[in-house]
Amino acid sequence: MENPSLFMVEERVKTFKIWPFSDKNRCNIRNMAEAGFYSVATGEKDADAAKCFLCGKELDGWESTDDPWEEHKSHAARCAFVQLGKKHDDLLLPEYLSIVKQYMINDIKRMADLAKEAIAHKQEEVRRRCVGRK
Ligand SMILES: [Zn+2]
Repeated sequence: MENPSLFMVEERVKTFKIWPFSDKNRCNIRNMAEAGFYSVATGEKDADAAKCFLCGKELDGWESTDDPWEEHKSHAARCAFVQLGKKHDDLLLPEYLSIVKQYMINDIKRMADLAKEAIAHKQEEVRRRCVGRK
C-alpha cells in the first residue's frame, strides 16, 4: 500500500531516498515534490523514477535543468493538480481540499479495482474447480 498522505508536500519529499541531482539544480527534490511528484525508485538503476500523487503519471529520464512543474504540465495536461496551475504553497484552502478529495477518490477507485481483480480471480478459481469436476 502506498503512503496514504502523499497529498502533503513533506510526505512526498520524504519518499526521495535517492535522487540524482543536488539542491542547486532546478530539478531538485523540493521542486519535484512541489510539482506533485514522489519517488518510486527501487534502486540506483531507476533512481529518478517519479510519479504524480494525483494523476499517477510516472516519469523518468530527468535532466538536472528540468523544471518539474513544466514537465508535469507537458506530460499530464489533464491532471487536476496541473490544471489548478498553482504550486502547492499558493493553493487556497478550498483548492487544496479539492485536491485532497480527488486524491481520496482515486485511492478508493484503486482499492475498488484491486477488489474487482480479487473477485475475478476467485471466480476463475471456482470455475476451474467446477470444470475439473466433470
Ligand atoms: Zn499529475
